[in-house]
Amino acid sequence: VRFSWPLAPPHPVLRPFLAPSAPWGPGHRGVDLGGSAGEPVLAVADGTVVFAGHLVDRSLVSVDHPNGLRSTYEPVAPTVTVGQPVHRGDVLGHLESGHAGCAVPCLHWGIRRDKEYLDPLALVTAHRIRLLPWPT
Ligand SMILES: [Zn+2]
Repeated sequence: VRFSWPLAPPHPVLRPFLAPSAPWGPGHRGVDLGGSAGEPVLAVADGTVVFAGHLVDRSLVSVDHPNGLRSTYEPVAPTVTVGQPVHRGDVLGHLESGHAGCAVPCLHWGIRRDKEYLDPLALVTAHRIRLLPWPT
């Protein structure tokens, strides 16, 4: 599965991923990418939309990918519906402002496998992937 950025460049990383020390502990379960309100948010890989709409105080979209990863995008006004297949680069919705911690509109992009959150940048930044240890 190939992954690409969810925003067109430039997409500065305003806040990096910070793995939580405990499942419910503090952390930053994704990266915040700077953008502009209303710009298209793109699927990072092929998959199926599993959530699109309002959750508590924000709108978001989640996509399940064939390799067991789930990507989440917020705050995003969805233009897709649950169950819809998407391809990498398809528009999922439009970026809204208001994500906590960003002074400008930003996209919070998360990746997880089951309950474990991963650093999304590792999927799109080749040299980061090469730093991972080989499986033994
Ligand atoms: Zn964030």
